[in-house]
Amino acid sequence: TPLDKIRNFSIIAHIDHGKSTLADRLIQATGGLSDREMSEQVLDNMEIEKERGITIKAQTVRLAYTASDGETYTLNLMDTPGHVDFAYEVSRSLAACEGALLVVDAAQGVEAQTLANVYQSIEHDHEIVPVINKIDLPAAEPEKVKAEIEDVIGLDASEAVLASAKSGIGIAEILEAVVRKIPAPRGDATAPLKAMLVDSWYDPYLGVVILVRVIDGTLKKGQLVTFMQAGTQHLVDRVGCFRPKIEQLTDLGPGEIGFITAQIKDVAMARVGDTLTDAKRPAAEALPGFKEVQPVVFCGLFPVDANDFEKLRESISKLRLNDASFSFEMETSAALGFGFRCGFLGLLHLEIIQERLTREYDLDLITTAPSVVYQIQLTHGGGQIDLHNPADMPDPNRIESISEPWIEATIYVPDEYLGSILKLCQDRRGIQKNLTYVGGRAQATYELPLNEVVFDFYDRLKSLSKGYASFDYHQIGYREGDLVKMSILVNEEPVDALSMIVHRGTAEVRGRGMCERLKELIPRHLFKIPIQAAIGGKVIARETISAMRKDVTAKCYGGDATRKRKLLEKQKKGKAKMREYGSVSIPQEAFIAALRMG
Ligand code: GDP
Ligand code: MG
Repeated sequence: TPLDKIRNFSIIAHIDHGKSTLADRLIQATGGLSDREMSEQVLDNMEIEKERGITIKAQTVRLAYTASDGETYTLNLMDTPGHVDFAYEVSRSLAACEGALLVVDAAQGVEAQTLANVYQSIEHDHEIVPVINKIDLPAAEPEKVKAEIEDVIGLDASEAVLASAKSGIGIAEILEAVVRKIPAPRGDATAPLKAMLVDSWYDPYLGVVILVRVIDGTLKKGQLVTFMQAGTQHLVDRVGCFRPKIEQLTDLGPGEIGFITAQIKDVAMARVGDTLTDAKRPAAEALPGFKEVQPVVFCGLFPVDANDFEKLRESISKLRLNDASFSFEMETSAALGFGFRCGFLGLLHLEIIQERLTREYDLDLITTAPSVVYQIQLTHGGGQIDLHNPADMPDPNRIESISEPWIEATIYVPDEYLGSILKLCQDRRGIQKNLTYVGGRAQATYELPLNEVVFDFYDRLKSLSKGYASFDYHQIGYREGDLVKMSILVNEEPVDALSMIVHRGTAEVRGRGMCERLKELIPRHLFKIPIQAAIGGKVIARETISAMRKDVTAKCYGGDATRKRKLLEKQKKGKAKMREYGSVSIPQEAFIAALRMG
């Protein structure tokens, strides 16, 4: 395709504002899909994505659109992941485009992710086309949202397209705007090949599929290419694009987006942001902006049934084939036996993997307290260690200092909820950096320790603001803190999987919360169970689960034999999902639930 007939764009939006619905509409309108095929959302193709309504892996679709000028254009629509955990993938997708559709919900207006994404889009020099979606809703206020886009973002919204992705309003206008407003890509067909690796995933039939954006030169079937960051060479055996069905091509020229396969078995070898060049006539330098993504949240995953260990290993290895951004290594715990220490990009990423293991691989798992990575400076020139697991904390007198990762968070919230959100940030050791008001909304910028955010901050934020607050963050480095290891003792025995690193100033509140929740979560036994939180040898909080009366079933269910049997069966089933600690059974939900700070 000649450069001037190509348009590469992505859709940026706050979650739920209609990005996927609009993408599907655009595919349908340009003939990529039949009405029947439209009944399923195409771009979000994993079950979990659909259920949670988020896009995890970016997908790109090539559309053929005949515009009102009579010319046929190739439009490459790139769907970007929609969650803060996947920020780097978003940045690479944006770097592969010249423009973006900014989708804003006509009833919700501009939200934190809208802002974060739009600023990134502006950083990539995108031409931005505002689209006000969901104008079919009774609560739609398109004029107000237009004003917001102008005031808050500073974009001209006078020509914003008013649309309803759901009812198909404004779709033709959006396609025309893409052709007229978004610039064609630039590139040099005669220069050595330079292509950006935008995304990669594992396909059971094709092996690793690599999504690329060609900058200069041509990428051909049969070509030997060098991955400049990885330093590897691969023979390209397929070139193609998605319409959204796979279409094989002979080559991809400058400005084009498509996929290749090159008999690569492991996604870890095809890292997002890498530069592909011709092995025989290489480019002088790689594309800028390559970053190695590092997991930030770590936890242990253990099978409830120790016999499932091998199955867990196989399942994790399979998932890892498709997601190089999580890490795992074997871990043994005195109480939990054999399992894996796994690293994730964030808590959502953790939950997705955990859910897939449970659902797709039918595993019952215990997830230990998630933790960020602490940097520990040892005394007597002992150097520095990265602590991924609170259980591995060195003896306190070997520790010179402990540092923890911090983030900068941008929170966007209607005025009426601001007070409680500011309090939440204070409680989590936040440092306010900025606070501005625009049209009944506040935008607060805070620096916060990542540790205070990873567990339930987002949930708390949503519930305190009845769902209206939104939040986005990035890491800003390590800072020293007064951090200590808090152990949890159940029936006088420390439960490693529940130990965590906490700030001394908040330890007591956290310890009390943990003990209270564990009291609710651990069923009664025939004896009294003390639950304690301790720092070093010092108990800072305690609760006691009183003993169960032996005749509990007899009392409650008197003569009703079936109900009594059901209850006993239920108890038996429940038992399979518990771990024994000494003589105490702890249900698996307890391990994560106890961490929700309430
Ligand atoms: P995404 O998270 O931005 O990809 O949003 P989705 O496309 O998944 O849409 C979120 C929800 O909004 C879904 O329930 C859609 O059916 C709904 N939705 C999307 N576009 C419209 C629209 O134009 N009007 C209405 N009423 N609902 C819409
Ligand atoms: Mg979506």
